[in-house]
Amino acid sequence: MKFQSTRGGGAVGLDTALARGIAADGGLFVPESLPAFDSGALPAEPTLRQTAAAVLEPFFAGSALAGHLESIVAETLKFEIPVVNLDSDGGFLGLLELHHGPTSAFKDVGAGFLAACLSRLPREGDDALLILVATSGDTGGAVAAAFDERPGIRVAVLFPEGRVSERQEKQLTCWSDNVLSLAVRGSFDDCQALVKQAFADPELRRRFSFSSANSINIGRLLPQSTYYAHTALGHFAKTGRSANFIIPTGNLGNALACIMARDMGLPIGEVVLATNENRLIGDYLAGADWLPRASVRTLATAMDVGHPSNMERLRQMHGDAPVLSAVVSAQSVSDTEIEAQIERQFRRRSLEICPHTATAFAVYESLPAARQSEDWILVATAHAAKFESIVEPLIGKSVTVPAPLAAILERPSSAVTIDPDLEALGGALADAFER
Ligand SMILES: *Cc1c(COP(=O)(O)O)cnc(C)c1O
Repeated sequence: MKFQSTRGGGAVGLDTALARGIAADGGLFVPESLPAFDSGALPAEPTLRQTAAAVLEPFFAGSALAGHLESIVAETLKFEIPVVNLDSDGGFLGLLELHHGPTSAFKDVGAGFLAACLSRLPREGDDALLILVATSGDTGGAVAAAFDERPGIRVAVLFPEGRVSERQEKQLTCWSDNVLSLAVRGSFDDCQALVKQAFADPELRRRFSFSSANSINIGRLLPQSTYYAHTALGHFAKTGRSANFIIPTGNLGNALACIMARDMGLPIGEVVLATNENRLIGDYLAGADWLPRASVRTLATAMDVGHPSNMERLRQMHGDAPVLSAVVSAQSVSDTEIEAQIERQFRRRSLEICPHTATAFAVYESLPAARQSEDWILVATAHAAKFESIVEPLIGKSVTVPAPLAAILERPSSAVTIDPDLEALGGALADAFER
């Protein structure tokens, strides 16, 4: 399988696409063509791992990792990804819980897969790979957890000082010596700009073998298709019907993986994006130009994205706005509605949901009754305990902390604070990794 750049540059194999993260022309890697899903070898009731291996196998054709697929899948999907049945007035309503991994957000799947792949890839020379990642909260924790203690790989996580939740900060700063946590005196945009500058700096590139684990890496995207495939197959086997999905969306990585699963032939109906007040995707589908916007701050911080980068992939794969509106729809949800849903789902169903997951509930509840009687699966992208300062006052009780998160909160933490400039970053990297 070859992967081509969204901007037309030459195609590369999976291994190169994983190691580079971004194409030489600045574009994002996409599969040259999507394979048709073949359930032939699967048992009648496959496990998530069996489905995942079947979905991923064609993408590994010709890769040095092909022989490792099973162990990569086993390492990535170490935790459960259940669909919880919710009572509804009409059709089927389920909640796909993606938050049972080490850092209690769906990004554990993509980060775990990328770590499993990169640590098995043969490397040129004996330089340790240095993964630079800018984070507004959840990505950095998932990446740090996935690469913690991996021999031959180092990680530097840049986060905006004082602008992540207390528990997110803990998840960014509690790891072993191969993970450097950098609190940047600036915004998330400053962190991202700094990572870009570092990648482009000849002097730093001579000293370090940089790689990226941001959500633009195709290795973050591919494994996410597997839980949609598995969920859709399970639902279809039970009911004979395709499930529609409502997916909390920021950078569009999670939802794109669902669309790709449908493109591969899995029984998935509609894909509906739930965004917060960062509404560029919805506006674009309704006819606005695709222009970067400054992100606005909302309660669903992990979705505060002004210019979702995976749209470049979606447009390359499906075409521009008028055509795209047949592929996907989007609806924006306000902070007021987020709060109302957190409260309401607790009262009605004793569910504790995070602010991101609340956007999916808001979109579902805005559907007309006739549409609610179809088959809907809402996606829970993070555990409520990660955002307890928002959730607890609304539901009037403390949220039980899941075991993996509790273990992280027990660990000591350390971070180096730097100014948002390249010299400070270079100095911190040298101090940590060039001794
Ligand atoms: C990252 C994140 C999202 C947004 O996912 P995208 O793939 O960027 O669309 C939603 N919810 C949570 C909890 C997240 O961490």
